Amino acid sequence: MLLKIVQVGHPVLRQTPCAIAPKDICSPAIQDLIEHMRETLRDAPGVGLAAPQIGQPLNLAVIEDRAEYHKAATEAELKERERVPVDFHVLINPQIELLSDSQVSFFEGCLSLPGFMAEVPRSRSVRVTCLDHHGKPRVIEAKGWYARILQHEIDHLHGKIYINRMQSQTFSTLENYQRHWKNRASGG
Ligand code: ZN
Repeated sequence: MLLKIVQVGHPVLRQTPCAIAPKDICSPAIQDLIEHMRETLRDAPGVGLAAPQIGQPLNLAVIEDRAEYHKAATEAELKERERVPVDFHVLINPQIELLSDSQVSFFEGCLSLPGFMAEVPRSRSVRVTCLDHHGKPRVIEAKGWYARILQHEIDHLHGKIYINRMQSQTFSTLENYQRHWKNRASGG
């Protein structure tokens, strides 16, 4: 089932959702929600979706960065962004630790703010502690683009959107990003 993605301005995107009780993770309600979010993320398509984005104030997000999404990028772009495929997985009640002293800056977008992008400085590497879709504790150490996706999704679970962190002078429509910014050297 495809879910409606909530757009910027909706108050649910600004709430900090409550933790999910571990005993509830295997309930049909949460398992169905995960399945519907997986379908919605693939349909969008996107690389991450947090429960507030489908109108649910729950501390849960899904991530999947499929190899086929990388075909539109050049080898150099993938390398610069340290972007590699990430299998579908679920983050429940995640805690994030930023591991890098310096930040890296790249353009990113959001399914709740379609048609726009901006450069967002983020930690190059992170450690995330969370529960998985079975309620099992998991520690994820990530760098590069995967670390960026984790930071973006976990921000959603704290009522934050990338526009709260962007370098505001870089805020662009997708069309202007492709026309004026895409081929400029970035990162670093
Ligand atoms: Zn987003």
